[in-house]
Amino acid sequence: MEIFTFGDLLNHFPFRHIDKTAVAKIADINFKTEYIQVAGRLQWFELVGEKQGRRLVAHIKDNTGELELVWFKGISYVEKILEVGVDYLLFGKIGFFNGKPQMAHPDLEIFVPQKAGGQIFLEPIYSTTEKLKARGLNAKAISKLTHQLFTQLQPKDIVENLPTDILQRLQLMERNVAYRAAHFPKDEQEFEQAIHRLKFEELFIAQVRLALVRIQRHKAFKGVIFEKVGDYFNNFYNNHLPFALTNAQKRVLKEIRTDTARGYQMNRLLQGDVGSGKTIVALLSMLIAADNGYQSCLMAPTEILAQQHYIGLSDLLKETGLTIRLLTGSTKTKERREILKGLIEDTIHFVVGTHALIEEVVQFKNLGFVVVDEQHRFGVAQRAALWKKAAVPPHVLVMTATPIPRTLAMTAYGDLDYSVMDELPPGRKPITTVTRNEMQRSKVMEFVKSEIELGRQAYFIYPLIEESEKVNYEDLTQGYEQVKSYFPEHKYTISMLHGRMKSDLKETNMQRFVSGECQIMVATTVIEVGVNVPNASVMVIESAEKFGLSQLHQLRGRVGRGSEKSYCVLLTGSKSSVESKERINIMCQTNDGFKIAEKDLELRGPGDIEGTRQSGALNFKLASIVDDKEILEMAKFEADKLLNDDIDLVEENNLPLKNYLQSQKGKTGWSKIS
Ligand code: ADP
Ligand code: MG
Repeated sequence: MEIFTFGDLLNHFPFRHIDKTAVAKIADINFKTEYIQVAGRLQWFELVGEKQGRRLVAHIKDNTGELELVWFKGISYVEKILEVGVDYLLFGKIGFFNGKPQMAHPDLEIFVPQKAGGQIFLEPIYSTTEKLKARGLNAKAISKLTHQLFTQLQPKDIVENLPTDILQRLQLMERNVAYRAAHFPKDEQEFEQAIHRLKFEELFIAQVRLALVRIQRHKAFKGVIFEKVGDYFNNFYNNHLPFALTNAQKRVLKEIRTDTARGYQMNRLLQGDVGSGKTIVALLSMLIAADNGYQSCLMAPTEILAQQHYIGLSDLLKETGLTIRLLTGSTKTKERREILKGLIEDTIHFVVGTHALIEEVVQFKNLGFVVVDEQHRFGVAQRAALWKKAAVPPHVLVMTATPIPRTLAMTAYGDLDYSVMDELPPGRKPITTVTRNEMQRSKVMEFVKSEIELGRQAYFIYPLIEESEKVNYEDLTQGYEQVKSYFPEHKYTISMLHGRMKSDLKETNMQRFVSGECQIMVATTVIEVGVNVPNASVMVIESAEKFGLSQLHQLRGRVGRGSEKSYCVLLTGSKSSVESKERINIMCQTNDGFKIAEKDLELRGPGDIEGTRQSGALNFKLASIVDDKEILEMAKFEADKLLNDDIDLVEENNLPLKNYLQSQKGKTGWSKIS
C-alpha cells in the first residue's frame, strides 16, 4: 500500500470514523440508509448457493428487528469465527436485495457495551486490501498500529511546517495535534478542525511550490525584451481594429505587455470561453513583437483551423505592410522552400501553421513570440520544441479551447502565468439549446429547413469513436444519407467533412460552407475546433449523450457567432445514463463555459478532465479541488502573499516552511512547464 515508513503510516488517513457509542436500531434501517452501525445477537448462519453464487448468509437480531448479513469472499474464515448466540457489533453498507436490507462484508467484532470516559470513541476505519486482510492487516489492525505509533511519538516528531503568523491568524490547529486528531479525534469538532488544518497545509504547500516554480522559471529563463509598443501596433490599434476591445481583452493584453517587457520568458496560459475573442489578443501581441523586430508564429491543432487563422489574420494585416504565411503538412514543396527561406531571412514576420512548424527544418532568424491555439492538442514536448528555434526562448502564449474551472487551473497550471477572459464581446445573443429525441426528428428537420429558408446555414454533427474510423465513417455516411432524404439535392447543397478525408478535399468542402455556397455541413467532431462561420445559426448534434460536456460546449460554440439568433439541438437516444442526462441538462441551462467546466469537474472528477496534466499537483491526500474550493482560494492567497513579501523565506515566521520544503526536496516530481 505504499506504506514504508512511520511517516507513510501517519499519512494513511482513515476514510471514516465510527462512533462506537452510536449503535443504531435495526428497525431504523430504510431505503436511504448507507453506512450504519448496529449490534445484535447472531441467530443462525449457513452456506447457500453453488460455485460463483456461493455465499455465507447470517441473521442477527436486536430488540427492534432482524438483519441479514452476507459474505461472498473469505467464507471459510468467517464461518470459523462466527458463533450463534454471541452479541456482535457490526458496521457496513446497507444494500437492498429483493426489497430487503442486507449488509455485505460487515466489519464485525464482539459487542462490548461502551462505558463513558477514557476510551477512544471515534474509531478510525482504514482502507486496506483483500490480500493484507488475509494476512491479518485488516482495518482494525492498521488502527492498532497507528494507535501504537502515536503512543510513541513526541510532539516534536511531527514538525510544524506552516508559517507562524498564518497559523495564528487563520486559527489553524498545530500540525502534531492535527495528525493525532485526524486519526484519533476526541470528538467530531476536533476532527473537523484537524482535517481543515491538514487540507490547508496540503493545498498551501502545493501553491507555494507552484509559485516557486513559476518564480524560479522567471529567474532561470531569460526572455527577449519587447521594449516598446511601436507603429505596427499603434497604427493597427487606432486605424484597423474592427471593434472595440472588451475589458477582459484589454486586461489580458496589458498582462502580456507587462510580461514581455520584463526580461524573463513569458509562459502564459490564456483561459477564455469559446468566442471570447482570443485571436485578436494574440494578433495584437504579435504586433508588439514585430514592433521590436521579432518574428511570431501561431500554431493551430488542425489544418482547417490554421487555414482559417491565416485567412482571418491576413485580412486584418493587409494594410500593415507585414508579411504572413501559412505552413502546414500540405504546403507544396516550392512554396514551402520559399517560406523556410523567408523565415530564416526574416522577410516573413508571421507564420501560421500546424505541427509542421515544429519540424527541425523550420528555422527562424528572430523568433520572439509563439502562440499555441487550443492547447491540449499539443504535448508539452511539442511546445518545448518551438523554444529551441531561438537562442533566447520566445514568449509563449497558450490559448485554451475550452475553459477549465479556476480551482483546476490553479492547481494544474499554477506554475504558469495565467490569464482569464471571462467576458464575451457585446451583442452576442445567447444560443438556445434544446434536447429532442428520435420521435421528434422530423420536427427538428422542419425547423432546420425554416432557418435555411431565412438564408442561414446548419451543422449536423456525428460523434467520433476514436477506436474505429470505419464505424465513424459508416455512421457519418448514413447520417449524410438521412440528411439528404430530408434536404433533397435539387434544392439544397450539403457538404461533408470527416477525419479520413484527404486534406485538400476537406479544405474544399469546408470552404464551400464558409463561403455560403453550401447550406448544410455534415461532419464529425473535426469541426469542433475554432471553425468560424458566422452565418451558421443551427447545430444539430446526433447522439449527443455520447459527447463529453466540454466537447458539446466547444461544438455549440460554432454557432451563435453572427448577428442572428442561434440554436443547438441535442438529439439523444433512449439509452442515456443518468450522468449523460445531467450533461444534456446543463447544456440546455447555460452557455457559460466556465460554469459548464465546473459541472464537468463535479461530474467526472479532476483526473478525467481533458487538457489537464497528469501532474503531482492533483494528487491530494485529503483535499479535493471540487469540495474544498474555499480552502484552496485561501491557500493560494496566503502563498502568493507570503512569497511576495519574503521570496527567500528568510523571515523568522517562515522558517518552519523553509525547513519543511528543504526536508522534502526531491520527494515530489513536479513536472516541467511547457
Ligand atoms: P475565440 O476566443 O473562441 O478564439 P475568436 O477570437 O475566434 O474567439 O473571436 C470570435 C469572434 O468574435 C470573431 O468573429 C471576432 O472577430 C469577434 N470578436 C473578438 N473580439 C471582439 C470584440 N471585442 N468585439 C466584437 N467582436 C469581437
Ligand atoms: Mg479560437
